[in-house]
Amino acid sequence: MKLSRRKFLKVTSGVVGGGVAAELGLLGVNTAAAAAKAGKVPIKTGRQVPSICPYCAVGCGQIVTVSDAGEIVDIQGNPDSPISQGTLCPKGAATFQLVKNEQRWTTVKYRAPGSDRWEEKPLDWAMHRIAELTKKTRDAHFNEFQELPDGKDGTVKKRVMNTYALASLGGATMDNEWNYLHQKLMHGLGVVYLENQARI
Ligand code: SF4
Repeated sequence: MKLSRRKFLKVTSGVVGGGVAAELGLLGVNTAAAAAKAGKVPIKTGRQVPSICPYCAVGCGQIVTVSDAGEIVDIQGNPDSPISQGTLCPKGAATFQLVKNEQRWTTVKYRAPGSDRWEEKPLDWAMHRIAELTKKTRDAHFNEFQELPDGKDGTVKKRVMNTYALASLGGATMDNEWNYLHQKLMHGLGVVYLENQARI
């Protein structure tokens, strides 16, 4: 299709102003596939609840759509938010999957010491195993006192109440509240190596 500059400007202004499919058709773009797909995308309706993205201190606004049955059916950016004006970063845009994700694993893979194979274990089993090993390691390596430099080329014994045998590295799906409680727990245990991917 031969397109003059005048025609191109006319057509693209139509794309911005409305009649997108028809105007793209004039540009030689086949919109049939997109139109067929769009017809099958379910429109998610329900009560819209303003909320805040749980992931970081930016605090982007979200709208959580809730069905009559009280189920979350969608989470999108809130255009009324003065902070984010409807936008969300890729992590915030995936918040719905934090709530609902049929592909989420509900078991863990465990390889026993010395074993050459992975076993499938229930999540509760893993929780108890982690708690058991955390307590055992802390009890074996807890420092009530430690010799520390006194600033005069000597050392001084100080109460430190810590352990260097445990470390905690948080992941991207830990939200603000979880991180708050987690650092409380870790500090309570005396863990000093405490870090999170999101640096919060
Ligand atoms: S994680 Fe992304 S969307 Fe969520 S508050 Fe932070 S910047 Fe905003």
